[in-house]
Amino acid sequence: MGSQDAIICHEFQETVAQYLIRHRSFLDVLSKLQESTARTQRAVAKAITLCGCLEAKASKPQIPPNVVFSDLQAIMDTHLRGELCETCRDVVETEIGHALFYLTALCNLLELDLSTVMQKQMDRIETLGPFYLA
Ligand SMILES: [Zn+2]
Repeated sequence: MGSQDAIICHEFQETVAQYLIRHRSFLDVLSKLQESTARTQRAVAKAITLCGCLEAKASKPQIPPNVVFSDLQAIMDTHLRGELCETCRDVVETEIGHALFYLTALCNLLELDLSTVMQKQMDRIETLGPFYLA
């Protein structure tokens, strides 16, 4: 992560700290975080079921027996078709923004530095490579 990214994370964390007044209890923050991730999922589902800009098409992956690991990413399907329209994109971005707000608020309450959390996670991903969350 570059120093510019770390500065943006730090600014974001400071801003969240300034504006988190109403839901200051960690219990409120935890429940608002869960609510915001549920609302993000709902926004994606609505893009499929109400708007129709996205389509879900899922089936069991057909993996050839002698496939090499590096080809798996191309074989594994996202099960998504289409792309977010402008309206749905706005809604999903807003909900992800709310989730980031409460995730950052949790960092603040636990005295965790968001950019350090991100850097450590990036290091883990880079170390484990394609085996991460496999
Ligand atoms: Zn849409």
